[in-house]
Amino acid sequence: MARYPDLELYIGGQWKNAPGQLVLNPADESVLGTVPTATQADLDAALSAAADGFKKWSKTSPSKRSEIIGKAVGLMRERVEEMAVAMTLEQGKPIAQSRMEILRGCEIIEWDAAEGRRTYGRVIPGEAGMKHMVLRQPIGVVAAFSPWNFPMSSPARKVGGALAAGCSIILKASEETPAGAVQLVRAFHDAGLPPGVLNLVFGTPSEISEYLIPQNLVRLITFTGSIPVGKHLAEMAGRHMKPAIMELGGHAPVIVCADVDPVATAATAVIGKTRNAGQVCVSPTRFFVEEAIYGKFTETFADKARAVKVGDGLDPSNQMGPLANHRRIEAMEMFVADAKAKGARLLAGGERLGNRGYYFPLTVLADLPDDARAMQQEPFGPLALINPVASLDEAIEKANALPYGLAAYAFTRSARNADRLAEGVEVGNLSINNLVASIAETPFGGVKDSGYGREGGTEGLSHYTVVKNVSHLMM
Ligand code: NAD
Repeated sequence: MARYPDLELYIGGQWKNAPGQLVLNPADESVLGTVPTATQADLDAALSAAADGFKKWSKTSPSKRSEIIGKAVGLMRERVEEMAVAMTLEQGKPIAQSRMEILRGCEIIEWDAAEGRRTYGRVIPGEAGMKHMVLRQPIGVVAAFSPWNFPMSSPARKVGGALAAGCSIILKASEETPAGAVQLVRAFHDAGLPPGVLNLVFGTPSEISEYLIPQNLVRLITFTGSIPVGKHLAEMAGRHMKPAIMELGGHAPVIVCADVDPVATAATAVIGKTRNAGQVCVSPTRFFVEEAIYGKFTETFADKARAVKVGDGLDPSNQMGPLANHRRIEAMEMFVADAKAKGARLLAGGERLGNRGYYFPLTVLADLPDDARAMQQEPFGPLALINPVASLDEAIEKANALPYGLAAYAFTRSARNADRLAEGVEVGNLSINNLVASIAETPFGGVKDSGYGREGGTEGLSHYTVVKNVSHLMM
């Protein structure tokens, strides 16, 4: 069996090949395939298919919907191995992480499908003979844009929410890591999803978003990606009065209080930082460590970082794969050079490994000034930035100093500290004594520049519905 699938558009239940852009393997820069570019006629066909799909799917009972969705999830679970290989080939993450991502994506879709059966409204009693009913109905056609760092689970969040609520969707997945979305869509096709309910396109991202967002048929925009692009799409959505879910970047602070074991906490943090080579919007990045344990924490972190084995993600002994594209290498080199020039101490990593494949080691910088670019802009790569703080108040102030507000982490044994953190840190997701930012059941999303709206949880599903109030006077 081929290790990497054919890449095609999927419109109105039909697969379609077309010329397009090359997809590279970040481990060795070899060509994996060609991702087709949708023409305007393809986008029009996707819109009209999605309109037809919505008519059928919104009238399909939630239990039937969840049965078809469940079948697709079953197929993805059966195909996890082939999907994981393709993901590691195109995105670079270690094969075990690819498997985990696919299974997590399955869980998300499954949970949404089950929750879709509970999109209850309510009945409000009124004057004699009058009833007020609150109905929750599917919002309509969704235009979804997913990024390259989570090729399957990010599309899964959007497809899961839309389909569970009874919406149809046009997904524009990443052109750099398209196989995750192609395989997800293939599972739905094979499970018997009616044509038009789910459509997949690729092309030039700006051309597709600029064409789809203003269309009357499109009723909801969902985007995961960078803050500048998110702001641009949100502006466009606002101009056309479309609600939007914006899951944008973060710059996650990690507050380490003096009452924890610095060695065990550093070991946990290194594992968290290696995940997807730090190319995660919730990657633990700015470490604020109380002075009493700063030395021990930093030393342990750097030792463990140097021991992380970096290499081709298909070799299961490697703990960190290559970065996903050359842009991330350039960004890491820029952040490291800038931090060093401003007086930071480089304790591990710092330079590209080899010159074939986009390998960059886990890099630890300590004692960075606040104006180091890495302390201000999301590194989105394997950089850990460690600074001492004199108190919890100082740590919270520093955590909140940036315009980001997606995820934050804290380590403490004190219930009082935990309470202050829960009250004071300005984020959508705070994890205390663990590095898990979200599960299928919990709402995930940001505050401030990190975006708005939530994915996952009952809050996430509610975006895919509209509320209608019907007042009925009995005759
Ligand atoms: P980028 O800003 O060029 O693109 C980010 C994403 O948006 C990509 O998936 C891209 O295909 C898409 N995109 C770009 N312009 C678009 C448009 N006009 N319409 C629709 N989609 C568009 O940056 P990049 O080099 O691909 O990624 C780097 C930055 O993106 C990172 O620093 C990180 O902040 C952010 N990012 C965040 C996430 C996340 O999970 N929130 C995921 C991937 C990237």
